[in-house]
Amino acid sequence: MSFSSLSLDSRLLQAIDETGYTTPTAIQLAAIPAILCKHDIMAGAQTGTGKTAAFTLPILHQLLSQPLNGKAKALVLTPTRELAQQVFKNIENYAKHTDISTALVYGGVSINPQIEKIKQGVDIVVATPGRLLDHLINQSLHLDELQYMVFDEADRMLDMGFKDEINNILKRVPSQRQTLLFSATFDDSVYGLSKSLLTEPKLIEVGERNSAATKVEQIVYTVDADRKRELTSFLIGSKNWKQVLIFTRTKQGADALAKEMCKDGIKTQSIHGDKSQGARDKALAEFKEGKTRALVATDVAARGIDILDLQYVINYELPYIAEDYIHRIGRTGRAGKSGLALSLMSPDEEWLLTAVEEVLDTRLLQQWLPGYEPDLTKVSTKSGKNTRKPSKKHARKKALGQKPNRKKR
Ligand code: AMP
Repeated sequence: MSFSSLSLDSRLLQAIDETGYTTPTAIQLAAIPAILCKHDIMAGAQTGTGKTAAFTLPILHQLLSQPLNGKAKALVLTPTRELAQQVFKNIENYAKHTDISTALVYGGVSINPQIEKIKQGVDIVVATPGRLLDHLINQSLHLDELQYMVFDEADRMLDMGFKDEINNILKRVPSQRQTLLFSATFDDSVYGLSKSLLTEPKLIEVGERNSAATKVEQIVYTVDADRKRELTSFLIGSKNWKQVLIFTRTKQGADALAKEMCKDGIKTQSIHGDKSQGARDKALAEFKEGKTRALVATDVAARGIDILDLQYVINYELPYIAEDYIHRIGRTGRAGKSGLALSLMSPDEEWLLTAVEEVLDTRLLQQWLPGYEPDLTKVSTKSGKNTRKPSKKHARKKALGQKPNRKKR
């Protein structure tokens, strides 16, 4: 099936053609007609499936069939600045032959240019929840004419603790609107959110729920924690891997690893929430251009990274939130391309792998790489240190860099 059979505006079809897309992806085939029929939708799609175009194109089409007055008609909410930028770029691209104007609104940068842009009139706003709320409270943005609202990566938005912001935003938008919810994974909290947001939604699922990108080969090497850096540099160097995205759990871990890998002769940078937006953009651009060979990222910072040809993802540490594994490895294998996701698991992280396997509903084969076999005599069984499974809440807080609440005695 071709894009032209989806009855989209010719200006959009021209942009799609120029982008080089020939056939719609599965999520686009399912979602675009449903959105054009004005249904609310709840869509579960693997990362990298083309979901951005799946919601952007029908919204643009509907905006093109009505008079516009510079007051925001569509809002896309994303959990991170990087994803907001990515969505914004997509919209700008698909709308390049139209007069539709889009504003990008996120925190960590001065609010004034955003206010100026909004003053000039915007039809679509792409935003992260916190900064959007600032604009709404300051009345620099009004959403009283909003018709379309998209929650992109809703699961991550909830994981990042944006529930209060979302509820606050919902009080400031019309209840009569079309709402589209996209989530790579579904759990009770996403279902809970969907109930309060959506009216008789069409459920769209492409691929299995909570499944990892199918063309991604997954390998798990068991290795001692203190030899992970050595093994990472060895693999990248000996296999001549060019563009490698590496995940750590903490910002400090990301910085330390990038520094050590540079000493190993592998040009590496890190990105995480403590770096300025400018530094994050620069590191990402240099990685995309191939100026840096490896990029070490925390889960939050990596969300939204879209590099079509990214082939290698290394889980330097397994995530505390098992669903993050799917998001991480979804950075590779995008739009049907193949990829390799390598997890380096120290023996005391085995419970994290078990959690990942539960979410994937599959077993991942553990392997030892000759020369890097774990020293099993090192694993402490006496104290139970690092081997005890923390509560899900504790793990989540730790993963998000928040301090766990101490129990009152
Ligand atoms: P997304 O899931 O929206 O992040 O998209 C993943 C990647 O697929 C992006 O690089 C898109 O540019 C690309 N893409 C989206 N739709 C198509 C399509 N119909 N054909 C080929 N590539 C696509």
